[in-house]
Amino acid sequence: MNGKDYYQILGVPRDASPDEVKRAYRKIALKYHPDKNPGDREAEQKFKDAAEAYEVLRDAEKRRRYDLYGHEGLKGVVHGFSSFSDIFEAFGDVFGGSFFDGIFGRGRRDRRAGFNRGANLHCEVKIELKDVITGVERVIDVRRTDLCPSCKGTGSRGGRSPVACPTCGGRGEVIRTQGFFSVHTTCPRCRGEGTIVTDPCRQCRGTGRVKVVRDIRVKIPQGVEDGTRLKIAGEGEPGRNGAPPGDLYVVVGVKEHSYFERYGEHVVCELPISFTQAALGCELDVPTLEGVAKLTIPRGTQTGDLLRIKGMGLPVLHGLSRGDQIVRIFVEVPRRLTAKQEEMLREFAKSEKVKVTPRKRSLLSRMKNLFE
Ligand SMILES: [Zn+2]
Ligand SMILES: [Zn+2]
Repeated sequence: MNGKDYYQILGVPRDASPDEVKRAYRKIALKYHPDKNPGDREAEQKFKDAAEAYEVLRDAEKRRRYDLYGHEGLKGVVHGFSSFSDIFEAFGDVFGGSFFDGIFGRGRRDRRAGFNRGANLHCEVKIELKDVITGVERVIDVRRTDLCPSCKGTGSRGGRSPVACPTCGGRGEVIRTQGFFSVHTTCPRCRGEGTIVTDPCRQCRGTGRVKVVRDIRVKIPQGVEDGTRLKIAGEGEPGRNGAPPGDLYVVVGVKEHSYFERYGEHVVCELPISFTQAALGCELDVPTLEGVAKLTIPRGTQTGDLLRIKGMGLPVLHGLSRGDQIVRIFVEVPRRLTAKQEEMLREFAKSEKVKVTPRKRSLLSRMKNLFE
């Protein structure tokens, strides 16, 4: 989103509480709601920008990244929203059911309080960095409500259909006439459902719903970034009165690796080598995410030099290419030397014409002289 300031978009201070952020977003989204501004491209852009800002600032981790690194820190994590329905799906709960009215072109008939798309569910799954290479399938336990199998969700014993509410005649709302106006209000008897249960099902006590734990198989694609949100359509809570179910959103967390650090599609690791290996060059076996690879250390390699193992990084999400493994060299100096090694190094130092401290023994003897 071309570098706009998320705090400015929502008009909140940088230390705004989650509640302030939510309130500010709700206000702006209502103002620029597409229903109120049909065909207004500027309002549309503001509506989308606000959703993107809210996506970041309501999430503690994303907000931290944004505060620390700005938009750079959100690369691959935040993609913005391309369509209105994505926004409603993600944040509809901020507004309650009324926010959806009109957007999906529902007629009056479906305005009954009982006709509601099922709620979306959210859960998290953690994967290892190496799973990012191939993608992985996970089975997650999702706690949700389902339609009661005993009454098939009707709430009526034996699955008999509930009867139309006699108070409102099944409309879910009653009309009161006050002078010239007729006011539609939710039917008090059926609470807008349009139906009442006369003989409640025992298993669900007439609610038509039971709590279940479902095993949901989730395919995590290769190349996912930490924080990627996957949508599994139709696996949310069931809808009411035949409305479609909600969706399940799975946030994929990628665990940190003890050796590799991820930079987008590249992985970086540190490799200690001895100073002779650095000076003379060598070929080494280096751990990768998939076993061991040969790496040639050229002569004269320095601490901090970056060597590249092509194609041993991570795949790009939905892409064909793959990143590299970058090896950061760390040259180690020996902490202890044998007498022979010391001899050779002193020889070497002479050839370099550099100053080195004299031998310890001679140093000690000189110190002795000082005290005599
Ligand atoms: Zn039941
Ligand atoms: Zn009624």
